[in-house]
Amino acid sequence: MAKYPLSDHYDGETFSNLTPTDHKSIFTVLKWKLTNDAKAWPEKIENKDYELSELGPNDPFIITWVNHASFLIRFHGLTILTDPIYAERASPLSFAGPKRVREPGIVWEKMPKVDVVLISHNHYDHLDLETIKRLNEKFSPVFVVPLGDKDLLESIGVKNIEEKDWWEEIRFEDKKITFLPSQHWSARGLFDKSKSLWGSYMIDNGQQRIYFAGDTGYGKHFKLIKEKYGSPDIALLPIGAYEPRWFMKDHHMNPEDAVLAHHDLGAKKSVGMHFGTFQLTDEWIDAPVKDLELARQKYELKPNDFVVLDVGESLWP
Ligand code: ZN
Ligand code: ZN
Repeated sequence: MAKYPLSDHYDGETFSNLTPTDHKSIFTVLKWKLTNDAKAWPEKIENKDYELSELGPNDPFIITWVNHASFLIRFHGLTILTDPIYAERASPLSFAGPKRVREPGIVWEKMPKVDVVLISHNHYDHLDLETIKRLNEKFSPVFVVPLGDKDLLESIGVKNIEEKDWWEEIRFEDKKITFLPSQHWSARGLFDKSKSLWGSYMIDNGQQRIYFAGDTGYGKHFKLIKEKYGSPDIALLPIGAYEPRWFMKDHHMNPEDAVLAHHDLGAKKSVGMHFGTFQLTDEWIDAPVKDLELARQKYELKPNDFVVLDVGESLWP
């Protein structure tokens, strides 16, 4: 029997994208690794020192980049954390796999009380069980996860879990959070490919909207989301982990794709993420920011329309 309701993205066994994408076989992965053209990243980078800015009485919200796909989003009365990762490595193994080249932009001890954690999918660089466990013990927040990830969180003792299908929402007083599509896949091991869902989130406080894209390739979902929910004031869009294109294109946007997504969404402002902490793919550490600048010029965006933050840096609407 199917574990979840059958839908256009669930056939009773596995989840799929709105536009079907290819799953890469182990041979294709080998081809990528054997034709390896990975640029060398630095071992360690020091962060700039940012004090965690206060949310002023007249600020509707403030967004701080923690690292990778993790943002702290503070409203009055509700603090949200996306895809938190404090682990040394984005990997199932403690001694191998992508290792962080910089510390998180908010020191763990200075993390303010978190009410809600949004998880986009179960890849190790987005769903870090160790960090989830620590957050649960410290703040017992509500964890919003895609269909199929509840068991994993329960296995480490988390109880406060909201498991969502695409287009489902959850309310926290005047704020509405909706789980939405992305174009990606899921897996933590060799035998669970796309057995759990992936996605993005729209956070709506009644006046403004913040869109968190999760991990995604460029697809038709951005236009669809704009049609159904309206344009976001701020879109948090991935711009890293995109080389080589023949391998990554379906499931990871490059900066040019992200600029197209920014247009499709009609976002007032976009913020780049998913770069600069873990080397997941072949491009050089500074490539996303440089390529974003070229893409902004090509599509005649102003520098302020699509920005990148330093880790630890904050942004106001
Ligand atoms: Zn992913
Ligand atoms: Zn990722």
